[in-house]
Amino acid sequence: MTNLTKLEVWFVTGSQHLYGKETLQQVASHSKKVAASLNRSKKIPVSIKFKSLLTTADEIFELCKDANASANCIGIITWMHTFSPAKMWINGLKILHKPLLHLHTQFNSDIPWSTIDMDFMNLNQSAHGGREFGHLSTRMKVNRKVVVGHWKDSDVLDRIAVWTRVAAAWSDSQRMKIARFGDNMRQVAVTEGDKVAAQIQFGYEVNGYGMGALADQIAGVSKKEIDQTIEDYFESYEVMKVLHKRQKQHSALRTAAQIEIGLRQFLQAGNFTAFTDTFENLTGLKQLPGIAVQRLMAEGYGFGAEGDWKTAALVRSMKVMASGLPGGNSFMEDYTYHFNPNNPAVLGAHMLEICPSIAAGKPSCEIHPLGIGGKADPVRLVFDGAAGAGLNASMIDMGNRFRLLINTVTAIPPEEKLPNLPVARILWQAHPDLKTAAHAWILAGGAHHTCYSQNLTPEYLEDYAEIAGIELTRIDQSTNIQNLKNELRWNELYYRTV
Ligand code: MN
Repeated sequence: MTNLTKLEVWFVTGSQHLYGKETLQQVASHSKKVAASLNRSKKIPVSIKFKSLLTTADEIFELCKDANASANCIGIITWMHTFSPAKMWINGLKILHKPLLHLHTQFNSDIPWSTIDMDFMNLNQSAHGGREFGHLSTRMKVNRKVVVGHWKDSDVLDRIAVWTRVAAAWSDSQRMKIARFGDNMRQVAVTEGDKVAAQIQFGYEVNGYGMGALADQIAGVSKKEIDQTIEDYFESYEVMKVLHKRQKQHSALRTAAQIEIGLRQFLQAGNFTAFTDTFENLTGLKQLPGIAVQRLMAEGYGFGAEGDWKTAALVRSMKVMASGLPGGNSFMEDYTYHFNPNNPAVLGAHMLEICPSIAAGKPSCEIHPLGIGGKADPVRLVFDGAAGAGLNASMIDMGNRFRLLINTVTAIPPEEKLPNLPVARILWQAHPDLKTAAHAWILAGGAHHTCYSQNLTPEYLEDYAEIAGIELTRIDQSTNIQNLKNELRWNELYYRTV
């Protein structure tokens, strides 16, 4: 998975010369302590680097220029220790292209009641210095995250940690390359979209490749490589008897492994970190990639079925955000409802391609016929998704903008065993309830494809939408249909003005 430790967030502090050299030295020393403390926090996966104390417009401009040019810098945290007149931030903020977090904190946690004097007051002015910076950022319509509280506060560290993970995903998105094998599933609307608009908005590029190129790569896979992957299957999964050596469908398992290896080699050679396929165009492939896609997703690749590149990109970005966290993220589809009033729930699954990172136990490796696509029976991993808190996220192209739609859910164990269902699946209760959630999702124009996450909270997606400058619609315990209708109408108007 993505290594976040090499990435840097630059910590900068705003002040001014009015206070004299001694005060500025104290400000710098405080800033270094705060940055070092954030850097030591186990919650924050990237390194937090104290960069400089900024007191002039030129220094700020240079800093923003350097941040833009630095490959390792994924964002900037600003802190106004003293009153930093904000006009000096205008030129810098005008050119800053990296994500920004405004940490509204102060060095001391408590007011030192018995010793506080005007020197202390002059040194510790974040309470109004931060407002000045906030005013200017708001006036300039700078997208940013604001975090308020003492810098040692565990909640403050959590807020910053989330943002650093999202900034890492944003940085990854600027270099993301998505390979599309085959076009969209025919006649489907929601998986379509403007790839050029997406590249301008999110940085990632989406390009199509002929199936012949992939088929050639797969054909070149060696016997030894297949043997190694098969060994890995037997170590990692419960493999169905008919797929074992000398059993009648062992050759299908070898074909599946060959597809997986060829696909991985193709992606590695082209520096792709996400991909799509479609069952309507599998020329040169003996099976629809099942276990191949599942294992590549578990390695960190983004994936969207039926040509769904928006979901492929979202799955990749969410996997980067979640690097190293317990739990998983997977391509998902709302498949079937359980409308029983005692336990209304959604069964999420796909034809094959659910990521084993969300599995409750050891997946089983199976082969079953597939009714569509006209190919040989595909090998797939079958499992139940783990119970617990989760969310579904969907990226939609509304024509004039992208909307990121999320719905919080609680995954539950299936009521009974599902002996005849030959695909990985997960059962969840949608918030606030199935009827309201599905109603809201449909009104918001959400897709049937999503990224299902076990370890990301809505805050991650909110931070992402803020950085990307896109619309975010949230369906959760507080959702009310009438309010949502109004929100959608207001947003419609808002996005026609910006
Ligand atoms: Mn689908």
